[in-house]
Amino acid sequence: MLGHSHATSGAFAWSVAAATLPISALVYPVLPTGDAHLGAVEVLLGTFLTAGAALLPDADHPNGTIAHVLGPISYHLCRLISWISGGHRHATHSFAFVIAVAYGTWAGEHWLGRYFTLGLVFFLLALAVRALHLCPAGEGIEAWGTVIILAAAGTFAMDHWITDKPAWLPFAVGLGALAHLAGDCLTDKGCRLFWPFPLRTCVPVIERTGNKVETWILSPLFTLATLAVLWHVFSVNP
Ligand SMILES: [Zn+2]
Repeated sequence: MLGHSHATSGAFAWSVAAATLPISALVYPVLPTGDAHLGAVEVLLGTFLTAGAALLPDADHPNGTIAHVLGPISYHLCRLISWISGGHRHATHSFAFVIAVAYGTWAGEHWLGRYFTLGLVFFLLALAVRALHLCPAGEGIEAWGTVIILAAAGTFAMDHWITDKPAWLPFAVGLGALAHLAGDCLTDKGCRLFWPFPLRTCVPVIERTGNKVETWILSPLFTLATLAVLWHVFSVNP
């Protein structure tokens, strides 16, 4: 699947989850503080961040959409992750990875606090900017320089609204990764969901990644559906 399909599917998954699931599920393992729903601002912030998190499993791909998101730094990091995880669509395309990123987010918030939260916000926004083609294409500085400027601007904007330890962020990061796995399972290569077991799950609906169906039908549908759910959330719970 293409980066923009993953990002828009992540945004859609978050908007639906935030609108329908009980708050105790969204903020797990933190206990809810008494509000019955997430605030509209939190739902909106989560939409952008889950879009970025939906790119995380492809950190195992040194030539993928996200490898050049922060220039040479992210490229070498992706090469390292690819080497450790056993190549493309192995360890990072599994339920174990989903649990690891969600728990890692919770642990980072809990032990490191606000700087971790803002650093993660910056990184997830950078991924979303890259995947949604809000920057020039390619691997040059004009591409990743634009990503850094836009993600930094977004982080400054969110700094005003986001708490030190957003209780919904671990769920958003895990959900984004899960949406990515669901998308990749629809392609003919599938995913090793139960890594380290060698079983490969695949329901090949999308025959070739990068086809016109994704660009002209799937991504626009996810975007429109996300906007519809957000509109509903804002009108019910402004
Ligand atoms: Zn993938």
